[in-house]
Amino acid sequence: MKYYNEHTIIYHDGSFVKAAEATIDLYSQSMHYGYAVFEGIRSYKTKDGSTKIFKPVEHYQRLIASAKALNMPFAYTTEELITATNEVLAANKLGDAYIRPLVYGPDNMSFNPNTVSHFTIQAWEMQPFLGEKLLRVMLSSFQRPNPKAFRMEAKASGHYVNSIMASHEAKAKGFDEALLTDIDGFAAEAPGANLFYEKDGILYTPELGHILPGITRATVFEICAPKGIEIIEKPCTVEEIYGADAAFFCGTAAEIIGFESLDNHPFAMKWEDTLSRQIQLAYKELVIE
Ligand code: PMP
Repeated sequence: MKYYNEHTIIYHDGSFVKAAEATIDLYSQSMHYGYAVFEGIRSYKTKDGSTKIFKPVEHYQRLIASAKALNMPFAYTTEELITATNEVLAANKLGDAYIRPLVYGPDNMSFNPNTVSHFTIQAWEMQPFLGEKLLRVMLSSFQRPNPKAFRMEAKASGHYVNSIMASHEAKAKGFDEALLTDIDGFAAEAPGANLFYEKDGILYTPELGHILPGITRATVFEICAPKGIEIIEKPCTVEEIYGADAAFFCGTAAEIIGFESLDNHPFAMKWEDTLSRQIQLAYKELVIE
């Protein structure tokens, strides 16, 4: 897909500029070492026809925390970031959009810290990510990175080499998506989404520590609380998921997307009859409120 055309406007280091004319220094530390942090945010055309960014404060708080976790200078406030994002959306007349803020380093071929960072916000019309179709998921041979080697709570660009490798493997084997384990062999998350499974009316999800603390994951908790649906955070074994009634991935881009099977093991319940399906529908309503 094409992310921009000759009219597209992005935010870049304090200015609104044409995407086609923006440049990046090839000596940037981020280009060479994957040392950058980013967000994935969505805006929706709401029921009243206006455009609303979903959970912008949460996303920009995470971006600021990610930059801090990687010792990257980044002085913007969430308010400034939200204002700039709304201006990018308006300049490009976007409604249903995917928004990609990125903090990256200056020219620096050493491993020394920087005194400045660069910052850009790009946005494009949202195309369906994984689609509505239930996913055929495979257990990946890749594990998520060791939390003692990386700041797993940060959304850091370098972590996504792991995601890309796991996705390539799953697609090469004819599956839709990968499920990665953590270094202890417990189920962790998808290359770009968190995991839940359902068994006997209770939801289970991996604890924080080896996974990205997803904003959609937190939203699932908010949806379930008033409905009285219990969620247990715990180390989840792969066998438990094979034996589950249903399972789903959740993330800003994927929203909530059910599994058809894991390693060709089908699930005990029909997706339409699950609590997971109810949560999927509730999420779809929430984002356009
Ligand atoms: N895990 C990973 C590795 C991700 O890239 C994402 C997408 N940002 C998620 C989980 C889900 O996070 P969120 O719900 O905040 O989009």
